[in-house]
Formats: sequence, C-alpha cells, structure tokens
Amino acid sequence: MSFKKRKLLFRQMTNILLGIIILSVGYICFTIVYDLRIHFNNRSVLHNISETNKECADRFELFIADIEKETSWKVDIISGLRSKEAQIQLKRDNPRNASVDKSRHVLGRAVDLNLYKREGFQFIRLKKSNSKSSWLATKVPEIAKKYGLLWGGTYKNYHDPVHFEVN
Ligand SMILES: [Zn+2]
Repeated sequence: MSFKKRKLLFRQMTNILLGIIILSVGYICFTIVYDLRIHFNNRSVLHNISETNKECADRFELFIADIEKETSWKVDIISGLRSKEAQIQLKRDNPRNASVDKSRHVLGRAVDLNLYKREGFQFIRLKKSNSKSSWLATKVPEIAKKYGLLWGGTYKNYHDPVHFEVN
C-alpha cells in the first residue's frame, strides 16, 4: 500500500471513530437530560400531592425510591393530583374512568406511573396497555404492597396497571 493510500485509510478510520464517539456522547447526554426531566417532573407532581395530602406524597416518594433501588426500572409519574374538572373530563372521554366522587386522584391519594429502562440502545417502556403479567414481572406490584398501596392491575373490570393508590 502506498503512503498516500495508507494516510487516506488512516484518516477514514479516524473519522469513523470520531463519529462513533460523537454519537455515543450525544446519546449519553440525551439520556441524562431525559432522566433529569422526568426526575424533576416526578418531584413537582409529588410536591403538588403533598400540598393536598402530605402523608400520601411521602409514601409515594418512598415507594418510587424503592422501585428505582430494587429493580432495574425507572419511574415516570404520568398523573398525580387531579382537579375535579379534569376528572369529570376523563370520565366524559371514557365512561370506564372513575367518577369524581370515586377517584383517589382528586384526593391526592393516587399516582399513575409508567416504567422505563434501557437495554443497550433499546428503550423499553411499560404503559397502561401492557399486560398484567409484564407488570407483575417488574416486581413493582409487590413493592407497592409493602407500602400498603392498592394496585390498579388487580381491578376486576378495568385494566389499570399504571395506577397505585392509598386505600
Ligand atoms: Zn390512576
């Protein structure tokens, strides 16, 4: 191989390596920002709940910390305290949702959460549409029991595995 060709090859290899490094650093920065955004959102949801129901907010905080310590999943709280108006609208959108007098969200006694984790470059998220068995496999319903929380995955007529409430 001529010197010129070798130099060109070397430059190409360096460029590829640089590309991989830039992509990896970019991905890592993205995941840090993503996690931070969710972390601060969780804190603000818990703070809102604590203004209505401090005891429940404290319990949810311990529950979430325990999930992130004991499992490989991270928690994204998708709903906490709800206004009566918001609950009425939810009921209007889907009659299977709880009515205002029944919803624990209005009282600050419930949270809805998604779980997520990364495996390599794969991003996995557990939502309401995921099966009861997938949720059970995360051990989160088991941890909920420790904190005396009722899990929406146990409802007979309504599949609501994202829902955890203080009875
Ligand atoms: Zn709920």
